[in-house]
Amino acid sequence: MDCLANKTGLVFGVANERSIGWHIARNAAAHGATCAFAYLPGEKMERRVRKALDDGGLPDAWIFPCDVARDEDLDRLFIAVGERFGRLDFLVHSVAYADREYLQEGRFADTPRDVFSQALDISVYSLIATARRARPLMTHGGSILTLSYYGAEKAAPGYNVMGVAKAALESTARYLATELGPFGIRVNSLSAGPCRTLSAMAVGGIDQILDRVEATAPLRRNIETDEVGKAAVYLLSDLSSGVTGETHHVDAGYSSIVT
Ligand code: NAD
Repeated sequence: MDCLANKTGLVFGVANERSIGWHIARNAAAHGATCAFAYLPGEKMERRVRKALDDGGLPDAWIFPCDVARDEDLDRLFIAVGERFGRLDFLVHSVAYADREYLQEGRFADTPRDVFSQALDISVYSLIATARRARPLMTHGGSILTLSYYGAEKAAPGYNVMGVAKAALESTARYLATELGPFGIRVNSLSAGPCRTLSAMAVGGIDQILDRVEATAPLRRNIETDEVGKAAVYLLSDLSSGVTGETHHVDAGYSSIVT
């Protein structure tokens, strides 16, 4: 079913073939979408992104460097997207960063002001900054999707400032949904269960988190990153045309039970 046929999307946050952003893009492309990619500037990152795209069957995909903490990078990117594609139908915000030194159990109260600001800037403000620039390109309406985690709702040991950022991110998505709805643009969060990606490895105690989910989640297993990609196809396409301001969990049911 080509539910994303003739749709063009911009995907932020592919670092390698394990990235959630990559699994979303791969599934979106399999359903007919054209995906363009914005990546954190740097030769090593460009090589990694290119490799993921080559190995994953999207060797001709358009890629562009963009540090989401830099307004001038964002401006350059969206001008280039407009020139290249003319319009956008969806945007995937799969970006987060916090200094890993403070993503350890027992270190939350130590979070310095600059570490807090940087985490919120890169992981949350970037959703506002990208949505604002995407809006004029979403001339036929659109879908914006960001990635969250259960640590937004409950204190998760070691997730720390990133949990605060995810709570702000889910709230930001709701405010954007309210403001962009009249333009036919939907904004949703997808709250994914733990997946072994580069970012996840920065969170202290990730192995225990994965073990706990496997032992207690209703499905008695962890999710596959591909399952996030499949759910994203629904949220990015017209299959979810009536859904906005929502946080959709893809977590084997873990957030639905008392643990
Ligand atoms: P990842 O490391 O593959 O992806 C994170 C991406 O953010 C990378 O591509 C990195 O380059 C990018 N990034 C960081 N700072 C940036 C900046 N200043 N400018 C541009 N890009 C920047 O890890 P992932 O797990 O795929 O993370 C994607 C999203 O999914 C994040 O928001 C993460 O918090 C969220 N998430 C991950 C999990 C998990 O267990 N892996 C669970 C729930 C939600």
